Amino acid sequence: MGPVTPRMWAAGTLAVLVVGLVVYAAVVVPWHRPPAPRADQVAALKEFPAGQLARARAFHGALRPAGYGSMAIGLVGALLLGLTPLGARLVTLAGRPFGGHWIAQAVLGGLIVVLVVEVVTLPLAAWRHRVVVEYGISTQSWGAWAVDLVKSYAVGAVIGGLALLGFFAVTRAAPRWWWAFGAAGAALVVVLLSFVLPVVVEPIFNKFTPMADGPLRTELMQLAARDGVPVKDVLVADASRRTRAVNAYVSGFGPTRRIVVYDTMLTEATPDEVVSVAAHELGHAKRGDVLTGTIIGALGAAAAVIALYLLGSLGWLLRWAGTDSMGDPRAIALLIALVTIAGLAGGPVQAMVSRRIESRADAHALELTGDPATFEAMQRRLGTVNLSDPDPPAWEYVMSASHPSTVERIAAARAYARGER
Ligand SMILES: [Zn+2]
Repeated sequence: MGPVTPRMWAAGTLAVLVVGLVVYAAVVVPWHRPPAPRADQVAALKEFPAGQLARARAFHGALRPAGYGSMAIGLVGALLLGLTPLGARLVTLAGRPFGGHWIAQAVLGGLIVVLVVEVVTLPLAAWRHRVVVEYGISTQSWGAWAVDLVKSYAVGAVIGGLALLGFFAVTRAAPRWWWAFGAAGAALVVVLLSFVLPVVVEPIFNKFTPMADGPLRTELMQLAARDGVPVKDVLVADASRRTRAVNAYVSGFGPTRRIVVYDTMLTEATPDEVVSVAAHELGHAKRGDVLTGTIIGALGAAAAVIALYLLGSLGWLLRWAGTDSMGDPRAIALLIALVTIAGLAGGPVQAMVSRRIESRADAHALELTGDPATFEAMQRRLGTVNLSDPDPPAWEYVMSASHPSTVERIAAARAYARGER
């Protein structure tokens, strides 16, 4: 037997990571779903006013061409750049004014490859915006929409640029073992982002102010205390400057944990319904769902880096992409294409895991408040204000639904009220 090569170590490590990921998910994801009988779902659906149902379905029908068009064009663009030498050529061009320096190639080249796909799908993003304005969900002018777009490009450019810089610094420093450092680095970045993003990125898009003292604030703080999930503060986000949609979430960990409520929620929903939503969010905090997602993401990112390294031994793939190594900045478009494919393929699995976790948070809300009637009213309200399809087509649900459908959530509340668990 020959010596153990870095490639064999990589394959072994990948196997361990994949097994670890599967075992972790099997143990941590709540595979048991609280009952939400289809008969209750059908009954709940019949109670929706016909006009509202038609309007919600028309809204989603109007969004679909832009959504799927953008997905298809994004995929084709990524494949065209990544599986032909086009992407490598763009990266070379980006580095030329800087004497072909690898840093220019990695950062500018990466940003240009991503920007090309973004620009091509921009008209569809604008179409989407037009639809959400037309249906009264978005309150943003074109100017405000463009500012948000530029802000999110800027955030993406900073994070992406740093990631590419780090990645290619490692591939240059350790040409045979970069997969090990890259995997550890990718896992670390996922952990950092999940702690840093809420604190650093959220304020770029929204202003947060402490909720005024009053019965609702007191009730929310008491609810959290009763749940054994201490929170530092209840904040109100000025979401109404871009949307009519309502939402709430819990962010931060331990002593920095805060309940955040959209200001739209305070005008659209009753205080009891706000409490019901907060109880759902506390369920996430209590079960450490953000941490679960972070660990799954970190293991997945580490595995992805090693898989990319191993795919780099496929000579034909590199030749298609016009490069000679995954560790070369000219492989950026190929890396992005592979990550895009993996993301699309993994989407349904991710959505299913998310739905299970959301069902558990719903069950938590029902138990904590002991008030299924308000929970149901709140789901109805969320569905009405956000124009969600209460019972979306099965294929769309399986492909992308991150939450149980409105009728499922109502059915779960009715089953809970009957004592079914
Ligand atoms: Zn949730």
